[in-house]
Amino acid sequence: MSAELFVLGAGTILPREGFGASGYALRPRRGAKLTLLDCGPGTLRALAGAGLDWLEIERVLISHFHADHCLDLFALAFARQNPALAALEPIEVLGPRGLREVLERGAHAPARWIKDPRWKIVEVALDADGFGSERRAELELRWAANGHTPESLSWRVELAGGASLAYSADTPPSRAVEQLARDVELFVLECSHTDEHADPRHLTPTSAAAMASAARARRVLLTHFYPDVEPHAARLAVAARFGGPVELARDGLRVEFGA
Ligand SMILES: [Zn+2]
Ligand SMILES: [Zn+2]
Repeated sequence: MSAELFVLGAGTILPREGFGASGYALRPRRGAKLTLLDCGPGTLRALAGAGLDWLEIERVLISHFHADHCLDLFALAFARQNPALAALEPIEVLGPRGLREVLERGAHAPARWIKDPRWKIVEVALDADGFGSERRAELELRWAANGHTPESLSWRVELAGGASLAYSADTPPSRAVEQLARDVELFVLECSHTDEHADPRHLTPTSAAAMASAARARRVLLTHFYPDVEPHAARLAVAARFGGPVELARDGLRVEFGA
């Protein structure tokens, strides 16, 4: 049975129709609980739009602490305080070192209601080369430090049956991310800017294509488009350099893989 990735936000913090802040939901198989990849503002709302039950969230993987990747953790915490809800299972939140402090401090700012005392917070460890991994029941989680910010991680999820997904999150060109994504089936790859307006903390069509090629990814899903990026032009530019299929993320897109 195939896995599914739901694109909840294929854009950045800058408002753009159809491209909300970063958020993705991974469903390893029909009926399985959800693992979110990042949780930017609007992710919770977009879950409903995608026909997904937010109460099925089992786990959240956070890449870094820029607001467009994590702010809806607070919305999620508040939603979970709703008195109409029965006792909820804890959600496991995995992210870089500093995650606990971000959640604690954030919760002090507007109200205590955005703190969830039942978070299972995991600040993941890095080995000397900047990689790590942990097993969960149906999933193997792997990550690598990518240098976008001091804490930033890219993620990879290995599913039962051999399906695999890598999520660059925000990243500069990175050997570690290429290694993390080696031979991955679906590479969710940021393409924040055009080559003309390159930012050393992000990718462009040229550097994204180079990363996908070096990783030998089987399939690429481009995402995280700043408003200067015209997605179709970016797709053509990446496809011209990368041999495999290139698709475009857009809010509401559902991608099957691992069939
Ligand atoms: Zn971002
Ligand atoms: Zn960022």
